Amino acid sequence: MEENRRETKRMNKARVARLISEAGAISKNEVSARLGLSMPTTLQHVKELTEAGYVVENGELESTGGRKAKTLSIAKDAGYAAGMDITMDAILFVLVNMRKELVRKARIRVPFAKDFSYYEAMANWLRVFLEQTGVEEDKILGVGITLPGVVNQKEKLLRHSHVLQVENMSFKGFEELSGYRCEVESDAGGAAYAETAGRSGDLVYLSLNDTVGGAILLNQSFYKGAEDRSGQFGHMKRERNGRLCYCGGRGCLDAYCSAKALQGDEPSMEAFFEKVRKRDRESKRRLDEYLEDLAAAVSDLRMAFGCDILVGGKAGGYLKEFRKELDRKVLECDRLDLDTSFLDFGKCQAEASAYGAAMRLVDRFFEEM
Ligand SMILES: [Zn+2]
Repeated sequence: MEENRRETKRMNKARVARLISEAGAISKNEVSARLGLSMPTTLQHVKELTEAGYVVENGELESTGGRKAKTLSIAKDAGYAAGMDITMDAILFVLVNMRKELVRKARIRVPFAKDFSYYEAMANWLRVFLEQTGVEEDKILGVGITLPGVVNQKEKLLRHSHVLQVENMSFKGFEELSGYRCEVESDAGGAAYAETAGRSGDLVYLSLNDTVGGAILLNQSFYKGAEDRSGQFGHMKRERNGRLCYCGGRGCLDAYCSAKALQGDEPSMEAFFEKVRKRDRESKRRLDEYLEDLAAAVSDLRMAFGCDILVGGKAGGYLKEFRKELDRKVLECDRLDLDTSFLDFGKCQAEASAYGAAMRLVDRFFEEM
C-alpha cells in the first residue's frame, strides 16, 4: 500500500517535470489544471523539483490585468546530453542543455573503420569535445549516436549499413569505453525526432541526406515496423530498371532524390545552389529533374499515409526556396489534393540527426525520473 503511494507520488512528480519541459514556461496553476493535481500536491512537487535543481521559477507570463503569474521552467544547466552523427568520413558532435537548446557543435574528420580503433577514436573525440564545452562529467546524461542504416535500439546494434559497409556492429563496447550511457538510432530517426518536436498530428518525415530515409509519426509515437524496418523510403521504386542504387537494386528513389544525386560533382550543397541562383543552365536542369522525382515521391507518400509530409535533411533545407516549383510539380502528380498545405520543410538541416538523438536522451531522463 505504502509502496503504491510512493510510486504514484514519483510518477506524478515525473509528470510535473515532463509537462514543464514540454511547455517551456508554464504557471503553477496551469500545471495543476492540466495534470488534474490539487494545488498543494502541485506545489509540493514543484518545491522538490526546484530543490533538486531541475526546475527554476522565473519570468512572468503576460496576463490581462491584475497580478502577473510567475512561470516555471527547466533549469537549463541541470544536465546535458550529447549527440553524435556518424558518417563515412566524419562525426558531428552536438551538446544540448536540459531545455534542449543547442549549446555547442563540432564536426570532426574521422574516417569510419570496422575495428576497435574506431571506438577508441570516437571515445577520444567525444572526450575532447565535452572538455571544450566545460560541462562537468557528472552532468552529462548520455550520448545519442545516429547511424546511416538499420538499427536495433534495444541491442544498441547497427544491424546493417550499406553506406558504412558494415553489419552487426555493437555499440555496447563504446558505452564501456566512453563511460557514458549510449543510445543508438538511425540518422533519419534522429532527424525526425528533432524536426517533429512540438508538432501535433500524424506526420511522415522524408529525409534527403546523402542517403534517403524517413520516419512515420503516428499517434505521437514513431511507427517502427517489424524489426525497425519502416521508413526505408529511399528504396521505393522510382523507375523500373532505372539508375543504380547503393543497395544493388535499380531505380530506387535514393538514386534520384539523395542530396548526393542533387549535388553531383559540386564540392558542397551550397556551391550547387549558388550556381542555380546564378542561373547556370546545367545546375538548373538538374534541380528541375530532382524536383520532378521528389514531387512524385511526396505525392506517393501523401497517397499512402494521407497525413502531413515534412521534407528535411541536407537537401531539404535548401528546397524551401523552390517551394513554388515543387508545389506545382506535386499537384501535377497528386490529383486528389487541392493544394499542398500538407507539405512542409525541416529547420534543423545538417545537425538534425545528432540534435534529435540528444533531445531524446533529455526526454528519456524526464520519463524515467
Ligand atoms: Zn535501393
